Amino acid sequence: MSATLYQQIQQFYDASSGLWEQIWGEHMHHGYYGADGNQKKDRRQAQIDLIEELLKWADVQTAENILDVGCGIGGSSLYLANKFNAKATGITLSPVQATRAKERAQDIGLSGRSDFQVADAQAMPFADDSFDLVWSLESGEHMPDKTKFLQECYRVLKPGGTLIMVTWCHRPTNNAPLTADEQKHLEDIYRVYCLPYVISLPEYEAIARQLSLNNLRTADWSTAVAPFWNIVIDSAFTPQAIFGLLTSGWQTIQGALSLGLMSRGYERGLIRFGLLRGTK
Ligand code: SAH
Repeated sequence: MSATLYQQIQQFYDASSGLWEQIWGEHMHHGYYGADGNQKKDRRQAQIDLIEELLKWADVQTAENILDVGCGIGGSSLYLANKFNAKATGITLSPVQATRAKERAQDIGLSGRSDFQVADAQAMPFADDSFDLVWSLESGEHMPDKTKFLQECYRVLKPGGTLIMVTWCHRPTNNAPLTADEQKHLEDIYRVYCLPYVISLPEYEAIARQLSLNNLRTADWSTAVAPFWNIVIDSAFTPQAIFGLLTSGWQTIQGALSLGLMSRGYERGLIRFGLLRGTK
């Protein structure tokens, strides 16, 4: 991974995670608004519902040893550790996030069953066959080498274990290549959210097939999650959020000013919310 991208991602999350938690809570991912995206619900509940719907979709009923790849401040890791009475390990590029995740674990009495580390998902510091659930929610879009990322997820997965990978994608390009305008829209999103590039869900599926993941399944949940961005936009314009933004640096301000890029990306069918699951 190039040092500059690595540093940009780290700085982005170091600077913005405190504000995100203060305004939006511990989950740094989309919410689920029903398959047709029409359910009205509290934003935090929608984020928890996304986790629950993903587990159902992926057919995961139990787990003992969970790895959360790109864990933020441990929103999913601790939720899953609690739900399954399991051990959870989370990795992030941001030392601020890892420290905060450990504090949160302590606060809710889960520090004995959780561990958070600053580590690179493309070169994980874990032995082969270590985890029975590898969970990656909205971190794949940051990875410069999508193949290496999925290879690592596969390597650390125990035989019989399940991988769930959920990530921002662009639309499939088998019928029509991306237009110059779509490419420009994507590049604006890459710049603001520190992404090297995204790929389509069929491209992720092709990588996963080469890894010989079993029971492979993919799904596009764009419609179910797209309402999230308008809800985030509404809540970004409160005095508390604006004050927080002004004190968290330019990259965070830019991220907030650019929330419309994502909602417009969904509206035009360019941005897609891709799911992939498989077993080893
Ligand atoms: N999954 C979390 C956080 C999503 S934000 C949640 O849903 O709440 C994206 C996360 O991916 C951040 O924690 C960021 O540090 C992490 N990330 C990005 N690139 C990474 C890499 N190469 N290795 C490990 N973590 C990475």
